[in-house]
Amino acid sequence: MSNATFPVSKALQKKPLSPNTNSVSREAAEEAVRVLIRWLGDDPSREGLTDTPARVTRAFGEWFSGYSESPADILSRTFEEVAGYDDIVIVRGIGFESFCEHHMAPIIGTAHVAYLPDRRVIGLSKLARLVDIYARRLQIQEKMTAEIVNSLQVFLKPKGAAVMIRADHHCMSTRGIRKHGTDTVTSSFTGVFRSDPLWQQRFLHLVGLC
Ligand SMILES: [Zn+2]
Repeated sequence: MSNATFPVSKALQKKPLSPNTNSVSREAAEEAVRVLIRWLGDDPSREGLTDTPARVTRAFGEWFSGYSESPADILSRTFEEVAGYDDIVIVRGIGFESFCEHHMAPIIGTAHVAYLPDRRVIGLSKLARLVDIYARRLQIQEKMTAEIVNSLQVFLKPKGAAVMIRADHHCMSTRGIRKHGTDTVTSSFTGVFRSDPLWQQRFLHLVGLC
């Protein structure tokens, strides 16, 4: 698939709101936590809970730091001096923590990220950082999978990119249907991984799924 026909998500281009630049103050966020504690039936002014709103907003700032980071920034530094290397590059087993956008419940999982370079490569740690940028936002697994593969394709312009994610959704295991031990697997492919079954097979073989 050529880049010209590749659907570039509007969301990829948009600079997201970050805790540092949005219009909601830290004080307002802490007050919202107090309201939630009162709604649960507890007293936010009791000793054990007085510092909780500040701790929660700090923790949320960390869990949702992906809103203040841009994939374009981390994928902009590339290298061409690779001694003719032209095979698949894959980082397997990238652990991540995310939160589902429907319940704000944890999604704990592992991502495998690969691309077939078109001369240019990026630092391997950038693939893990790319996963974190999207994991540290409110998510559904399907969207996160597509966003990672699409941003690789758009900003690195490889011959193809492939992403597979396996995750445990706490909104399904700790509430609602309460099914423990299940996991959800999603995958997304661009370029040769989408158009050529042999490249897709190689990716699946490398992640241990065939
Ligand atoms: Zn959910």
